Amino acid sequence: MEILHVSAECYPVAKAGGLGDVVGALPKYQLKSGHTAKVIMPMYRTKFLYENEWEVHSKGNTNLGERFFDYTIIKERSNKLGFDLYLVDINGLLDREKIYGYDDDVERFTAFQIAVVHWVSRWAHRPDVIHCHDSHTGLIPFMMKYCYGFQSLKSVPSVITIHNAQYQGWISWDKGRYIPEYDSWKKGMLEWEGTINPLASGIKCADKVTTVSGSYLEELRSYANGLERLFEYERGKCTGILNGIDTEVWDPATDTYISENYQISTVKEGKQANKKILCERFGLNEELPLFVFIGRLVGEKAADILPDSIMASIYGLPGKVSFLILGSGEPHVEWQLSNMINHYPGYYNAMIGYNEQLSHQMYAGADFLLMPSRVEPCGLNQMYSMRYGTVPVVRSTGGLKDTVVDMGEPGGYGIRFNHASVGDITYSIERGVNVYNDERHFNWMRKRMMLADNSWDKSAQQYIDLYSSLK
Ligand code: ADP
Repeated sequence: MEILHVSAECYPVAKAGGLGDVVGALPKYQLKSGHTAKVIMPMYRTKFLYENEWEVHSKGNTNLGERFFDYTIIKERSNKLGFDLYLVDINGLLDREKIYGYDDDVERFTAFQIAVVHWVSRWAHRPDVIHCHDSHTGLIPFMMKYCYGFQSLKSVPSVITIHNAQYQGWISWDKGRYIPEYDSWKKGMLEWEGTINPLASGIKCADKVTTVSGSYLEELRSYANGLERLFEYERGKCTGILNGIDTEVWDPATDTYISENYQISTVKEGKQANKKILCERFGLNEELPLFVFIGRLVGEKAADILPDSIMASIYGLPGKVSFLILGSGEPHVEWQLSNMINHYPGYYNAMIGYNEQLSHQMYAGADFLLMPSRVEPCGLNQMYSMRYGTVPVVRSTGGLKDTVVDMGEPGGYGIRFNHASVGDITYSIERGVNVYNDERHFNWMRKRMMLADNSWDKSAQQYIDLYSSLK
């Protein structure tokens, strides 16, 4: 089977969150099981672009409304990612430093999608499936089915995976002219509640829709940022497939980002050595249980209640607990978290920003990982933390519910709570501190969670089965 993944992110080329990790890993595992998987994404000005060699694969020109543009598809030469990687260069639109966050993101990602469909429609053969990811590629199934210029792709199956339904890529109708000429009877397939909604369009037009966990799919029927009725209506073609983790990149035994490699048999000493270095760097007391948070500082992750929860724990459990934060996001949360640094020396520190290496060091050196998320479609952090023997402390939602078993359950190794509230978080931290002091049980939990199989093998096969059902 030949699978073409279309995405705005792919690790290590460009990553803003879990989407990048998934698109960087899933094709590798599909290849491993004997299929051909390729990725096409925009060409941003990232480090990966400059550090690798590229060849021009093809060139073309098309238009975004009245604006004609040339595009170039370049291909990475040395198969560095283990699969074919193509980047779309559109001068002046895609070649930026950041992935998202520009005023003309609508133009950027619409032109990207048009270029991809234009390119594939000129192939001498047809791929077996086009696999889109999130709203930035949500218009592709519509274009393949209903745009006059791309009729050759009409019968190619398409799948869209929803990594996050909060961001839907809304486009006002005055920009409707950007969509290449289409059967006007099908206008409704682009729209949701009065605007062009690429995510909704992807759900309506793709042959299959997947979400990154089963529980998230259930939750979307009652909370989907306005798309609840659509998820209910389309439930027949929706499936939840849990993400896996790339066990080659995330392996404490071989991770080159961390100071001391370790495995299950050496987890106690290995983590202690990593913790020592981390605590020295951030001025924390290494004797105390260390709780970390790694992620986007946004409402979805409940980052806004982190400052109060941390302060309440530092006062409620005096001298018994320490915290380290890595993240960036909403300015007022960044400000609060930075501001607290001087108030609790030895017990609290934070690094505002994005830092891949430090994230690995934190998974390795921490005792607990906090994830109080209000919404968590799958969540990768908790799976990384388990692989590194770091106890996940999570709210029971989405993929967190599907992957973490509370230590109160038989065989459980994590901590779960129900509400994204200061009370629930501080209570869970207290449970964590108690189990940390019960060394035997704590070490058993570490070893038990490191045995959990969250690798891609099973999920990659589920995707293959899904594609096969479309033939
Ligand atoms: P989301 O995609 O919603 O942000 P996920 O849990 O699916 O959340 O994926 C988050 C990924 O991004 C993980 O690999 C996590 O380690 C990484 N990450 C998030 N914020 C940062 C940061 N500030 N520095 C380094 N890595 C980060």
